[in-house]
Amino acid sequence: MIHGGAGALEDLKHEASEATFQQSITAILEQGRSRLEQGDSALDVVEHCVMLLEDDRLYNAGQGSVLNAEGKVEMDAALMNGSDLRAGAVACVKHIKNPIALARRVLEQGDHVLLVGDGALEFAKFCEVTTYPDEYFITEARILQLAEAQAAGRMTLDHERIKPSQKLGTVGAVARDLQGNLAAATSTGGLVNKRWGRVGDTPIVGAGVFADNETCAVSATGYGEQFLRTVLAKTISDFVQFKGLDAVAASQAGIDYLVRKVNGDGGVIVIDGAGNCAAAQSTSGLIRGWIERGGEAHCKLG
Ligand code: ASP
Repeated sequence: MIHGGAGALEDLKHEASEATFQQSITAILEQGRSRLEQGDSALDVVEHCVMLLEDDRLYNAGQGSVLNAEGKVEMDAALMNGSDLRAGAVACVKHIKNPIALARRVLEQGDHVLLVGDGALEFAKFCEVTTYPDEYFITEARILQLAEAQAAGRMTLDHERIKPSQKLGTVGAVARDLQGNLAAATSTGGLVNKRWGRVGDTPIVGAGVFADNETCAVSATGYGEQFLRTVLAKTISDFVQFKGLDAVAASQAGIDYLVRKVNGDGGVIVIDGAGNCAAAQSTSGLIRGWIERGGEAHCKLG
């Protein structure tokens, strides 16, 4: 299951871009399916799907990242392996083509879980992951979006409607492989007009990402601060573990908790150990697609 962010997506219903999102989501899902069918691990597949999402300018991650208050791109990403709870994350990174690939290197290297800023960039050079100059990331549309947020004095979700042109978002993937292992990955450019140095929920294990074979795998999107304060991904996992809920009930219980405790805006995708796929959201839209137990590919934007 993959997602392309939560927010106000009503405009998509009336535009050709609805088909563009559907094509993108379906093509990436099918790549994930074929790798899982070949026997690839859930961890490899969530990394691969998120890299494809990062390389697509439709989404607020990698190349399509939104701009912070300084007009710069600072990205966060993380992934987690459900069989042994290994995790890797990077925060506040610049110039990295695929932050999720760097997070994977952190996971594999094994000494640390989270690297930030210049230290993460130095590690990226050591690992020889691909880097690009600012121009690769910064587009006219993102400059305009930042100007609109600044004119409104707001810090916004990529999807949020200051003007009806904003409808893109953070990305994530969750998967269960043929061995029954679970994994989750999330990647983002964060919030439009965020303070430089700000880190959201995305790279924080238990907030924007979580995977445990005993429970479920979760990838979140929405106002990061609210997901941090509610530790939402781990809260959903706890609902599976301690209340015996499946992915469908746990994702809804998680969003109910997010709304009840902090009036939160966002959504989650969840897969449980039995392979049930679920999504829940408090925003009007959540771009997501799923293939449940090898069946048909589905895509939903609302
Ligand atoms: N959760 C992300 C953040 O707060 C934003 C998003 O999901 O669109 O950085």
